[in-house]
Amino acid sequence: MANELRIANGKVYDPANNIDGEIRDICIKDGRIVESVSDSAAVINAHGNVVMPGGVDIHCHIAGPKVNLARKLQPEDHRLDPHPATEHTRSGTGGIVPSTFATGYRYATLGYTTAFDAAVPPLAARHVLEELHDTPVIDKGYYILLGNNIFLQNLIRKGRKEELKQAVAWWLHASKGYTCKLVNPGGDEPWKGKKNSNVKHIDEKSDEFEISPRTIIDSFIDVANELGLPHPPHVHCNNLGHSGNFETTIETMKTAGDRRVHIAHIQFNSYAGELGKNPLSAGREIVEYINDHPNISCDVGQVMFGKSTIMTADAPLAYMLKGYTHAKWVNVDTECESGCGIAPFDYQEHIYTHALQWAIGLEIFLLSKDPWRVVLSTDHPNGGSFMSYPKLIKLLMDKNFRDEEMKRVNQKAMAKTFLGELDREYTLSEIAIITRAGPAKCLGLKNKGHLGVGADADITIYDEQEDKELMFNAPRYVIKSGHAVITDHEFTTDFYGKTLHSTQEYDPAIENIIRPFFDDYYSIRFDNYAVSDAYLHDHEFIPMQKS
Ligand SMILES: [Zn+2]
Repeated sequence: MANELRIANGKVYDPANNIDGEIRDICIKDGRIVESVSDSAAVINAHGNVVMPGGVDIHCHIAGPKVNLARKLQPEDHRLDPHPATEHTRSGTGGIVPSTFATGYRYATLGYTTAFDAAVPPLAARHVLEELHDTPVIDKGYYILLGNNIFLQNLIRKGRKEELKQAVAWWLHASKGYTCKLVNPGGDEPWKGKKNSNVKHIDEKSDEFEISPRTIIDSFIDVANELGLPHPPHVHCNNLGHSGNFETTIETMKTAGDRRVHIAHIQFNSYAGELGKNPLSAGREIVEYINDHPNISCDVGQVMFGKSTIMTADAPLAYMLKGYTHAKWVNVDTECESGCGIAPFDYQEHIYTHALQWAIGLEIFLLSKDPWRVVLSTDHPNGGSFMSYPKLIKLLMDKNFRDEEMKRVNQKAMAKTFLGELDREYTLSEIAIITRAGPAKCLGLKNKGHLGVGADADITIYDEQEDKELMFNAPRYVIKSGHAVITDHEFTTDFYGKTLHSTQEYDPAIENIIRPFFDDYYSIRFDNYAVSDAYLHDHEFIPMQKS
């Protein structure tokens, strides 16, 4: 018998299909949304409830070696926040970097049903896939770190464009990645080999490779376009975290011309002021550029006060922050692929820079004219936990709440922002865009982020409440692939989502060019590197988007 469900009389927010709070039914059959179901279908009475597609997190860090190291660094978190098993779900630990099981369940308790890890070294793909397989409820994928890959930088330097394209396709295939991630492109080699230094300018050529970050970014945008990747290069810009870095961010966006690019956690790259001095806000300059350029998308990377964990492939950045915290940190060089730095962190209301960062993120949200391209993230766990999303939604929807929160933070920082002048309050439809429809569109996920016929039946049903933090903190129902995982606020079944990947076709001749590089430099043999399909478990191939 078909698995049928009718969600009846809910107030539906489905911006991709221009539905803005209409009372209607949503019908589900065999895990997908359909036009209608039979009279024998199960029924959820959603009268008085808000119905939205399941949330889609476009940028977080939830699996792999860096996440494990961060867990090990903070055992106190595990003691303070145990995640008990229930009749239907497994146990775990919480805190700022939850265990695999807790990560999936906690995303579900916010109504999120899809999440992408934003920085995976291809060398760690097996580990990541094993952890994601243990991350329940949500569908998941990951971006692979290619912006500091030595083999690829050599191809770029020599202008071997066709081989670059084939090599990127091979790496995506070998690691089951979704798109390419560039983190502080060109910055790792100076850090690894040259006395902890960094590239300081988008046009600065590294000594060894004689190419600039701009050339690397430009090359990857071309490759992504030619391959038709469902999501463009996901770029963590150079100079992240430094005062005055907004000019680098604008130059990065200009490099794209009219080609698509996604700028990650853009708040961290929206600072005016002089290098080495207190930052000032350049939120307005950044948003104005994005508003005028429809080829650009970004996630905000909002800072939320409280505990966080810096977890980045930008090793020089973690080194700088470790100098600030004087606490535990980890640095890892991942062979010829990436750097990595991890440092527990705490964003505090009374500290000027932290308060300013908080305000800049909100400025960017509130000045954005196109919520489809400026989407919600905290760069979990860098700017704060994904568990703070309901509070962030309340900050965006409730001007009075925002004003009260502004009174609690560093007032010198508030005097340097124009946040207090911004009266905008996000609507429920706009929240549905920045948390669901927008990220799904940026990712090229045609079956997610909406409730039209054919979409995955990933649906969240909230009790409509005045306090939006309470509302988004505890959905009444979460439906994943047609299964009611949460019913009346409680888990009623366990469920394991699938891996989303964009594995590429490539010319096998490229293997003969890559193989000798492995023999010379890698700790793993070429033939053992590529991840077999068995590691994917349940998975979905997201097709290329040829223009
Ligand atoms: Zn990130």
